[in-house]
Amino acid sequence: MDNTTVKKNSHPLGFYFIATLQMFERFSYYGMRGLLMLYLTTEAIKGGLGIDKGTAATIYANFTMFVYFAPLLGGYIADKFLGKKKTFFIGSIFITLGMILLFLSASKFMVYVSLIFIIFGNGLWKPNITSIVGDFYGNNDPRKDGAYSIFYTFINIGAFLAPLVCGTLAEKTFAVTKGSEVVSYGYKFGFLAAGIGMLIGSVLYMLFSSKLLGDLGNYDAANPKKQAKNSSAKVEKKPLTKEEKKRVSAIVALTFFVIIFWAGFEQAGSSLTLYTNDYINRNVGGFEVPTSWFQSINAFLCVVLGPLFALLFVKLSKRPKGDIPTPTKMGYGLIILGLGFALMVGAALERGDTTNVAVKANILWLLGAYTLHTVGEMFLSPVGLSMVSKLAPKQIAAIMMGVWLFATGFGNYIAGMSAAFVETWGALSVFGLVTGITISAGVLLCILSPIFQKLMVLDEES
Ligand code: GLN
Repeated sequence: MDNTTVKKNSHPLGFYFIATLQMFERFSYYGMRGLLMLYLTTEAIKGGLGIDKGTAATIYANFTMFVYFAPLLGGYIADKFLGKKKTFFIGSIFITLGMILLFLSASKFMVYVSLIFIIFGNGLWKPNITSIVGDFYGNNDPRKDGAYSIFYTFINIGAFLAPLVCGTLAEKTFAVTKGSEVVSYGYKFGFLAAGIGMLIGSVLYMLFSSKLLGDLGNYDAANPKKQAKNSSAKVEKKPLTKEEKKRVSAIVALTFFVIIFWAGFEQAGSSLTLYTNDYINRNVGGFEVPTSWFQSINAFLCVVLGPLFALLFVKLSKRPKGDIPTPTKMGYGLIILGLGFALMVGAALERGDTTNVAVKANILWLLGAYTLHTVGEMFLSPVGLSMVSKLAPKQIAAIMMGVWLFATGFGNYIAGMSAAFVETWGALSVFGLVTGITISAGVLLCILSPIFQKLMVLDEES
């Protein structure tokens, strides 16, 4: 798209359409994810499946890992066969079906089948919807970073609303109570709401995509030089140039740091949740804050802080020396995440790191940690998506987004395992170790940044 013909800071309507679709999908994902552990572990007579905690944790860790591994396949299918648009739409159907199956599920086996549908659906959806955002802009278009920030805000609006809507349906509206005691939960209705969220996204796509997206994300549009009429024709095997290979190697090398980041960050759903449940004083003015509510903090802060950071980065880019280079930003992100974990070390020290649940740490440690984690995320995640969209050669753009997300999958798995490490080594050691590793990785990335910048140079036509 020619950036001289559009206003400097405005974004095309099609971009907002894509961001809205992504909001519905994330609503669906996080609505379901927030209830999954509870559904698996709650006794059968109370509306759950009565699976033991250990097995449930393994299912959860593997599920969240494969959810982010599958995008590699989805990116491949889009780049080689179907194009991004068709692929993510098929993904939305898989996700909707998965959610409905989960609503109907009555056994562990059916849950596995549902989760496999959601994993495949996410694989077809996530890399392609993410990559298509970048297709609205030329690589040197300054609006690209901003677009990814706004896209990220939409992600988090969905993520913020999901636990509130699906959680309320499950734990209030469809819960049966006897006096003040809950006799059974309506988790399945939470899954149904998640499915309806995705369904709305699919219907919106069917209604408006041809008008708002035009050719964008079609198979042939990804290969402008080969506008073949026969859309089933295979992608021409244009070899990557030397420059393109350098850029691909930069993305792949950076995924190492991305794994470390998410391995720390995603502990929000594992070790930090368990820690909050047992060891944080959640009593605020006489009200016991439910542990699950802490899951909305990150998404809420993303919505609030996202636009501020987008503005900051635009301001910085107007300096004579320009914006902070992306790898350096990501290094800062890791360091800030590490500082968040340093606050959790503070919490562990305040408690004397005992396993006595009667000894609690101040809630401010946790709130501070989540705030720093979110600021770290702003320096790494939307910025990273934008970077991949700029650097990836067009013919493998979605695959490269898949590679980026694949790293997130590893991170999720390590984060899931961390809950078990806390059990064996104690919170102080684990939080201390995570602080050390993430800050060291961040400093290393800042040091290596000039090398990455050399690999990442874009040629004029891209
Ligand atoms: N919260 C963001 C999303 O859902 C990033 C998650 C991640 O990459 N781990 O897209």
